[in-house]
Amino acid sequence: MTTSKEIPRTGGECATHDQDLLASCVHCGFCLEVCPTYKLTGDENNSPRGRLRLWREEAEGKLAQDPWTDFYTSECVGCLACESACPANVPYGKIFEQVKHEHVATNRSKPKFVLRLAAALAARPALFNLVLWPARVLRRARLLPHGFLFPGNPAAVQSTAAYARQLMQQRRPTGPRVAFLTGCLMESLFREINFATVRVLIENNVQVIIPPDQGCCGAFQEHTGMDGVAALQVQNQRAFGSLDVDAIVSNSSGCGLALGKALHGHKPVRDVLSFLGELGPVQRSRRTDGARVYVDLPCHLIHGQKMAGIPSNVLDATGYTWELAPQARDCCGSGGVYNIQKPENSREILAGKSAFLNEAPGDPVILATSNHVCMMQWNSARSVGLVNRPYLVRHVIQLLDPESR
Ligand code: SF4
Ligand code: SF4
Repeated sequence: MTTSKEIPRTGGECATHDQDLLASCVHCGFCLEVCPTYKLTGDENNSPRGRLRLWREEAEGKLAQDPWTDFYTSECVGCLACESACPANVPYGKIFEQVKHEHVATNRSKPKFVLRLAAALAARPALFNLVLWPARVLRRARLLPHGFLFPGNPAAVQSTAAYARQLMQQRRPTGPRVAFLTGCLMESLFREINFATVRVLIENNVQVIIPPDQGCCGAFQEHTGMDGVAALQVQNQRAFGSLDVDAIVSNSSGCGLALGKALHGHKPVRDVLSFLGELGPVQRSRRTDGARVYVDLPCHLIHGQKMAGIPSNVLDATGYTWELAPQARDCCGSGGVYNIQKPENSREILAGKSAFLNEAPGDPVILATSNHVCMMQWNSARSVGLVNRPYLVRHVIQLLDPESR
């Protein structure tokens, strides 16, 4: 981890954050022990309380704009564990987004080039799909080296929308009607998970529609602090806001959280596993081999969307022997784009959490979660040398889908 000793102090102008929000922290410190960067460093400035104090002192003009503040802002993973721990309901995530955006807008910080490029592409789904077509082909052919990119079998050409239309015509489900957010990276690179989601929903008698004008949820722009979130929110309000559906569902906790903010006051957005949990999904046959599933809970599911976890009836319906992974409620270090912005910190956070995989019983051992970015992070544990035995990484929806098992 980069140390604060490497940061020179300089003066500058005062920041202008939302002072009412900043003043809502009562300094109790309950958030410190859940914060991954505080746990790594023991540095108060690298804690939620410390960051809020730096931002408030800048906003009040007591502290000049300073690379120390930029540094500690960039160290935050954005896991939102501090929000869940906070008795004063400090909206840390909202404040963090404001500060991050302001730092990028005023050139106090600059996202890496690859992230700026990806954010620009994410806002243009057709182009993103085209650019990542070779990657889908290579993933299908199992020719991509598996670092972040977990193995998969995405359709190279057929879109999830076309697949859903085809399956709807064949199966003609009559149950609740949902609009599905297919996402930008999910659709461009990890489309097999979208296909599995469509299959599982339709098998459970759910009617699936894919709004054609939907855009990126805006999470990428939020994570990087870049412009464009508001325009994407308006696009998605138009695409989803007036639909006659029982639910809008997402199969990625981060995308679901971001779309929920866009559609706030219009329509609620549901995580697909929570939705299936209420329906009671079709039960898969019991796996009688030695396979064992360890379930990890994405931060944006439990802290962002405030869900208690992944419904146990959904996990039971997979037919696998499962248990929660040790430290399942702790951050894995992926943080949207944190593993690219701060790879050393991200690896350190993952190290403690992934160590159990070296000894975990099971053959195969399967790490299951419900966010593609967390899946990438977990898959990388082997390539960066944190785990020295084979294991599989799966989305929980794939465990419910016979074609993906
Ligand atoms: S979002 Fe996570 S990393 Fe950032 S301050 Fe809160 S607990 Fe710490
Ligand atoms: S738990 Fe909430 S009120 Fe207490 S120090 Fe942390 S952010 Fe402030």
